[in-house]
Amino acid sequence: MSLADPERHLSDVYRIDRLTAEFLFPETEQAFRSSIRDAWIEETRRAIFLAALFFLMFAFTDHVIMIGDPDYFLVLASRIVVTAVALSAAYSAQRLWRHMVDGFIPSVVVVFGLAAFVWKVTVVPVDYGVHGMGMMAMLLGVYVFIPNRFLNVVVIALVASFGFMLVTLIHFNLSLGQILTVLALLVVTNILGAMAARRTSLTMRKDYCAQAVLRAANERLEREAEERRRLEAELRHRADHDDTTGVANRAAFFDAAGRLFAETEEARQPLSLIMADVDYFKQLNGTYGHLRGDDVLRALVEVCAAVLPQPYFLARFGGEEFVVLLPGTALEGAGRVAERVRAECQRMPVAIAEVAIHFSISAGVVQRRPGERLNVLLRRADEAMFAAKYRGRNRVEVAD
Ligand code: GH3
Ligand code: MG
Ligand code: MG
Repeated sequence: MSLADPERHLSDVYRIDRLTAEFLFPETEQAFRSSIRDAWIEETRRAIFLAALFFLMFAFTDHVIMIGDPDYFLVLASRIVVTAVALSAAYSAQRLWRHMVDGFIPSVVVVFGLAAFVWKVTVVPVDYGVHGMGMMAMLLGVYVFIPNRFLNVVVIALVASFGFMLVTLIHFNLSLGQILTVLALLVVTNILGAMAARRTSLTMRKDYCAQAVLRAANERLEREAEERRRLEAELRHRADHDDTTGVANRAAFFDAAGRLFAETEEARQPLSLIMADVDYFKQLNGTYGHLRGDDVLRALVEVCAAVLPQPYFLARFGGEEFVVLLPGTALEGAGRVAERVRAECQRMPVAIAEVAIHFSISAGVVQRRPGERLNVLLRRADEAMFAAKYRGRNRVEVAD
């Protein structure tokens, strides 16, 4: 089952587990983490950097409080080590930070930092309340900076709180009231922190889900638009092409003729026209059937595509009659082209199953006179073609 599986309903794919505040479907959680990876790395890098600096900053207060104390250097060394580990984690290679999104590196750094802090309680001789405030700040920092691994963070914070409580009980001689106060502060801090972390986790995932739904809707719209474009193109193609042979139809021929008349006039180029008609086509249809007749028409189009020089415009004028416009080609050249088409048709029988159907064409060739209208040009071409038929078929007549 994959994310793209249409069987899966969106509400399944994006269901969020209430306990872990993560997506229930592992692939979704994975995709979500990948999507926030870069921003997440940058954010955590900054957070660890800041935390390390703060931790080091307290060396000043240590200095004031512990000057002369042999443990001072131990505490200082621990601060330097913790800061160094945190900073090197913050600046370690990107490769290592791939795990950042899973909360692995921050968790290690945090566990290390919290352990150092709890140990420090036993060494730095200040009021248990000062340590308690430090612990609260540390815990809140942890909850705010690693919200992506909600359960990890809760476990880490609770273990650290428990360790802190234990060390405080052992190290300070507290009354029951003081013990209850520290306990209450730790409980409140953990509840507030957990709520903040959980809310961040949920909000980020709900945002991601909303974006994913939008993206899906967008993709569907784009697919529909693409399908519409395809259909429109197909309709346009059908409107000006002949189904049987795939070449331009009569309507498209008239459009193209108007365009090519203007172009060749402007460029002072000749324009020739060939009108070709299959000989005894009714007979071919009668002998081999209409479908075979269609094959003959397609064979003629294939010959034209192979023989005609670019640029040309070929159209099915009607029935078994085709017209070719040759811009830039004068009468003599057009006559040679028509002759090549005729010869090639005669040479190439249409092979169908065991039968080879031989066919031929008759063609009339004309060159447009200056300013000549299309219907006049077509009439002259038709007359030339008729002359070719009259003079025995399978021949080309060039009009002068
Ligand atoms: P000619 O040598 O004088 O041209 O004789 P012909 O039999 O080819 O002449 P005619 O124009 O009388 O015959 C044209 C035939 O073409 C009639 C019609 O049945 C057939 N025809 C028209 N359109 C199609 C088509 O799309 N497919 C097929 N197979 N036949 C068609
Ligand atoms: Mg014919
Ligand atoms: Mg005909």
